[in-house]
Order: sequence, then C-alpha cells, then structure tokens
Amino acid sequence: MAYPPEDLLGKLAERLGPKGFTRDAGDMAPWLTDWRGRYRGAAAAMLSPATREEVAHIVSLCAAEGVALVPQGGNTGMVGGATPPPDGSALILSTRRMNRIRSLSAGDNLAVAEAGVILATLHESALAAGRRFPLTLGAKGSATVGGLVSTNAGGTQVLRFGTMRSLVAGVEAVLPDGSVHDGLAALKKDNRGYDLNQLLIGAEGTLGIVTAAILRLVPAVAARAVAWIGVESPRDALALLRAMEAKTDAVESFEIVPARALEMVLEHIPGTRAPLEGAHSWHVLVEAVAEEAPAALLERLLGQALESGLAKDAVIAASEAQAEAFWRIRDSIAEAERAHGPAVQHDISVPVADMPRFMIEGAAEAEARFPGTEAVAFGHLGDGNVHFHLRAPAGADRALWYAEDAPRITRLVHDMVVAAGGSISAEHGIGQLKRDELARLTPPARLAAMRAIKQALDPTGIMNPGKLVPDQDGPST
Ligand SMILES: Cc1cc2nc3c(=O)[nH]c(=O)nc-3n(C[C@H](O)[C@H](O)[C@H](O)COP(=O)(O)OP(=O)(O)OC[C@H]3O[C@@H](n4cnc5c(N)ncnc54)[C@H](O)[C@@H]3O)c2cc1C
Repeated sequence: MAYPPEDLLGKLAERLGPKGFTRDAGDMAPWLTDWRGRYRGAAAAMLSPATREEVAHIVSLCAAEGVALVPQGGNTGMVGGATPPPDGSALILSTRRMNRIRSLSAGDNLAVAEAGVILATLHESALAAGRRFPLTLGAKGSATVGGLVSTNAGGTQVLRFGTMRSLVAGVEAVLPDGSVHDGLAALKKDNRGYDLNQLLIGAEGTLGIVTAAILRLVPAVAARAVAWIGVESPRDALALLRAMEAKTDAVESFEIVPARALEMVLEHIPGTRAPLEGAHSWHVLVEAVAEEAPAALLERLLGQALESGLAKDAVIAASEAQAEAFWRIRDSIAEAERAHGPAVQHDISVPVADMPRFMIEGAAEAEARFPGTEAVAFGHLGDGNVHFHLRAPAGADRALWYAEDAPRITRLVHDMVVAAGGSISAEHGIGQLKRDELARLTPPARLAAMRAIKQALDPTGIMNPGKLVPDQDGPST
C-alpha cells in the first residue's frame, strides 16, 4: 500500500474543510485503537465526510494514488475491523457526520438512514413514528448503521427478527473505484442476479463504504414482559425455550447467563442487583412482546415451567424500570469482564440443539487443557450462538498469557466448534482478530470464492486491507 502523499492530504483537506479533515494526534487518538484495546493503529489523517458525494470523491482520489481507507463508524466492533494498520499507511474514513435519517415511513415500515446514524437514535426516531427497528445490542449508544450493516450484526432479537441481513432492504455504497451503488429502491422482488446489497452486508468495509441503508421497521412494542429465571443447566434452558415456543410466538429474546457472569456484573457495574434471591448455576432472561398482556402470558408459561422443574425460580419485572435493570445486567457482561481481567473471547455458533452439550463439554475440555482458566459462556442460546470466553488463571501475567496461552486456547475452541459443524464467527465478524483462523478452518472452495470477489471489486486492495479476507500467502504477521 502507498503511504498517503502530502499533495493528496492537501486535496482532501481542501475538499473536506476543518470539520471533515484532521491530522491532530489528540483528535485521532480514540479512533486508533479498538473497543477491547487489543489493537493499536496509526493514520496520517482522519476523514469525516458529510455526504455520499464527499465519500465518492475521497475514494476516487485514494484509488488513483493506491492509498488505503479504513471505514469506521462507532468503533465498537469486537474484532479490530475498524482499527487502521500500525504502519500509518491508511487513512481513517469516519462516517460520524453522515448522521441523517433521510426518510422514515410508518406506512411502508421502512427507514433510510445514513451510515453514521447511531442505533439508539434510530430506535428513538422509529418510536416517534409508532414503529421500531427490531435489532438491539449492548453498544446501541455508539454503534452505527454502517457498522451494523458491515458486520451483519445480530443482537438480542435475532430469535424473532433475524440478523441485519433480514432487516436491510437495500444499501447505498461507494465502491472501491469511487462509483456509487444505489440499492435503496427497496424492491420486494428483484431477480437481476448477484445481490450486491447482500454482498456488502457483512463485508466489514472490504468491498466499499456503506453510505446509507434502507431498513425494515415493525410496529412499536405494544407491551412487553421481561422475566429473569433460574435454571439448572443449558439443556433445561433450551427445553424451556422450546416449551414456550410451542405455546406462543411472542418470545423475542432468550439469553442465557451463567452464575459467574452475573457475579462479575454485580461486582463491577454500579447499581446492579441480583434479580433472584437464591443461587442458581444458570440464569435466563426472557422478553415476550404481545398486543395484549404479555406478563400474564409469561406468568402462565413460567408457572408450568416451575411445576415441571424446568425452571427453579423466576421473577417477572414489575415495572419498565425493573425490566431495564434486568437487561442492564445482560448488556453489561462484556464491560464487567473487561474490568475484571484478561479473558479470551470466542463468538461462536453451533446447531441450536447441540449448544447445551457444547457449552458444558466444551467448557470442561478447555478448562482441563488449560488449568486455572475459567469458561464463561453466555448469550443467544436460542440462536445457537454464545460468547464462549475463557478467563485467565488468577495472577497470570497479562501480556504473557495473551501472547502464549490465548492463541492456543482459541485454536482449541475453534477446533471444537468446527468439529460440531459450527462457525467461528456467529455475529462479530472476522476483522483482524480471526483472519488467520478463517484461513486455517475455511474449506478451500469458500476461501477461493471470497478472495476472487475481493480481487474483482477491489483489485488494488485499498478497502480496509488486512481485514476479513486472508492473504493468499498464508498467515498474516
Ligand atoms: C458492549 C458491546 C456489545 C455488543 N453486542 C453485540 C451483539 O449482541 N451482537 C453483535 O452482532 N455485535 C455486538 N457488538 C459488536 C458491535 O457493536 C457491532 O459489530 C456493531 O455493528 C459495530 O458498529 P460500529 O458502528 O461500532 O462499527 P465499527 O466498529 O466502527 O466497524 C465495524 C466494522 O465495520 C466496518 N464499517 C464501519 N462502518 C462502515 C461503513 N459505513 N461502510 C463500510 N464498512 C464499515 C469497519 O471497517 C469494521 O470492519 C457489541 C459491542 C459492544 C462494545
């Protein structure tokens, strides 16, 4: 990759003006490292265009010079995908100024949002129109539409509404040669061959810069009920979900939380309290949404579960504030763990029915092979996707553990996942964190097709180099 020449930087500064161009080290510092603080990059400048035309202009200039661009939204990604390379050869392209909701139609249940719109803002705008965008996650106060599209984000409502792939009706993007793909027509039927919109979803900025997306909305929540349930095992938790689903389609979220994760949250997140009095090895957070009386519905279903022994104890939130408090526990696990100490994270999926076995046997295997570690698996049980983390042994040297043990643990976990027919990235993407593992564990036909697509659309490799698509010549350094 070419280093950005001074005359290119001069042209960009002139076109973007002081609001859209900075080389100030202090301004750029927060954007040069990832959310988990695992990667540190460098950039000659950070560009913050305000319009699609400015993005196209930037990309055309950079393509002509062979200068790399790293798209960045809220920088909440979990795999180092938005962190520039450490050699300073790339420019950051931040979408934060592209933050308009261009339109929102309650009648059509569609919203056109620019890439830099923050998820929480989209939620608020939809709600004001009596609608909602049914995807949410712990980083909703910072994560952007462009980042959500580009990572094909999931979150806690996938059970009912699917991932971003199901919720995006079309994408507008600037392609690596500076041309614009306008996929915002939201056609219900369109069979003109390859679907560029779907190709850009989950592409992690390696095939172009998403400038806007047209998103599907659903009616605002009429009423919701949130319950916290103590269960004995992941197997009972899944059986409980299946029992509920057999009686209703109102269950929207079903999250599993082990006792250890709850303890970490209570220790590190101020103002949190355990929802149940007794101790339980596993907990489940359930949200049901229905036109009428979801609390009565949950009460009935949980009554049956308590009787059959699938649930050991349960409490239904008595108010919106209590419901929020339950969700805060779930959404704070990543933050609590970060405060707690070193851990190696795996965002994995296996077929749903096999997940309870995997959670128990996989944890036992990993803990036995790496004595002193502690497995903490939590998350979207109903999607067959948990965040399978291993915490370092008490007193372990942080740097040494990350350098030596963590990669070996990751290989073990990923091997177990592949043996179970699963995926080494269920929702966070590949970024730079999992690129070598993707190369190691992906069947050759799939890998060759990914490389061919990248080469065809981005032949000079200026779009987010070093991310997602493994190098032809083996592991990256
Ligand atoms: C506390 C917490 C909880 C989370 N929970 C979940 C969860 O439940 N489910 C889930 O799926 N994720 C979760 N995440 C991960 C993260 O929030 C998502 O990946 C989110 O989609 C990232 O959005 P962002 O705007 O921060 O993107 P960034 O981090 O800025 O970028 C992510 C990737 O997308 C690319 N990108 C960003 N914007 C664009 C654009 N406009 N065009 C092209 N490429 C672009 C970047 O280059 C990078 O590769 C969580 C993160 C945190 C911190």
